[in-house]
Amino acid sequence: KRVKRIALLGSTGSIGTSTLDVVAQHPEQFGVVALAAGTNVELLAEQVKTFRPQLVSVATEEAAFDLRAKLGPDNQSEIVVGSEGMELVARHPEAEFVMTAVVGSVGVAPTLAAIEEGKTIGLANKETLVCAGPVVMKAAREKGVAIIPVDSEHSAIYQCLQGERREELSRVIITASGGSFRHLTREELSHVTLEQALAHPNWSMGAKITIDSATMMNKGFEVIEAHWLFDLPYDQIETILHYESIIHSMVEFQDRAVMAQLGTPDMRVPIQYALSYPHRMPLMTEPLDLVKLGTLHFAGMDFGRYPLLQLAYECGRAGGTYTAVLNAANEVAVDLFLKGSIGFLTIETIVRKTCDAHKGIPNPTLDEIFAADQWARSQARAFM
Ligand code: NDP
Ligand code: MG
Repeated sequence: KRVKRIALLGSTGSIGTSTLDVVAQHPEQFGVVALAAGTNVELLAEQVKTFRPQLVSVATEEAAFDLRAKLGPDNQSEIVVGSEGMELVARHPEAEFVMTAVVGSVGVAPTLAAIEEGKTIGLANKETLVCAGPVVMKAAREKGVAIIPVDSEHSAIYQCLQGERREELSRVIITASGGSFRHLTREELSHVTLEQALAHPNWSMGAKITIDSATMMNKGFEVIEAHWLFDLPYDQIETILHYESIIHSMVEFQDRAVMAQLGTPDMRVPIQYALSYPHRMPLMTEPLDLVKLGTLHFAGMDFGRYPLLQLAYECGRAGGTYTAVLNAANEVAVDLFLKGSIGFLTIETIVRKTCDAHKGIPNPTLDEIFAADQWARSQARAFM
């Protein structure tokens, strides 16, 4: 049996550690040849000792220095730095599969690099498609590269579409848990704390996506992500509230038949599916117990309660550079909130104002997208 060789971007994060857990459960099927992380050298050093990758990238020179010190003289892994380092990981000649699990639009360049090298992409980093969807999808088409979704909703849709004809699909229904503040009114939202925002009811995830879930920006990004991954117009992409996160998403066909993918909320399932596709493998995780759950709950999406989801549809429909601006403004605003510099509802205000101030460019090049991203970052800071 042949080992599938993996390069992993964002190894020290929530998706990254879950990916390594899946790899460790299947040492005969999967191997890690390259890792990229930011600055969590403590954890990265452990990962390097366990998985012995040939190449390791960290975000800063300081982190590289610390990593070398932690690994000691026996270290066999080559250490590289910065965005160039991350790109080397993405292009690693022995990797056939690249898992993109960094957070934010820094994922765009290494993802494009991996596509250029013809590697299969496991896409967790949704900001890549929100920022540069048209460019990334075009590159993947031209190279004949598969982009396999890792985001649980898109993995669910992808699984439901196996063996089906795309033209017979009538819509996709993306489920949303509602995030940390789903039981609060907008009035109550003005007083919430960072600590409360970071406590997601169903999923344990990185800080940024946990905040994005509370604002429903995450669902907006997922709508845009679905638009690009499944080549669907926005009026065929719906969202509904489903509090338990058991149904990961659904697809409806022209005959009104609906298919859904269900399971306990565990990201290792969609991660492993992307890694093992088109096969399935055993996975050590909790089996779904519907009898114990008894009931599943649903409610219609409330766009007034979640204006960033509304804005995501608007930016998605406007196209061009608007979604790149939406993403960049949101990255800045969430970062400010995580640092305690702004209140929760100011995230919405900053993102809305930045998008309103933008003059979009239709059919943008990658350079125009990156310029819009940079513009949005400075604009968003000015609206703080
Ligand atoms: P985390 O914050 O947990 O992890 C982010 C990872 O990216 C860390 O390894 C971090 O390194 C690394 N990183 C951050 N900035 C840089 C940089 N400049 N250069 C190199 N590496 C960097 O995020 P998550 O794992 O939660 O999310 C990752 C992506 O997956 C996001 O796009 C998210 O939207 C998506 N996703 C996540 C889900 C989840 O369940 N967590 C579900 C669906 C999608 P370090 O910590 O070492 O600094
Ligand atoms: Mg998701």
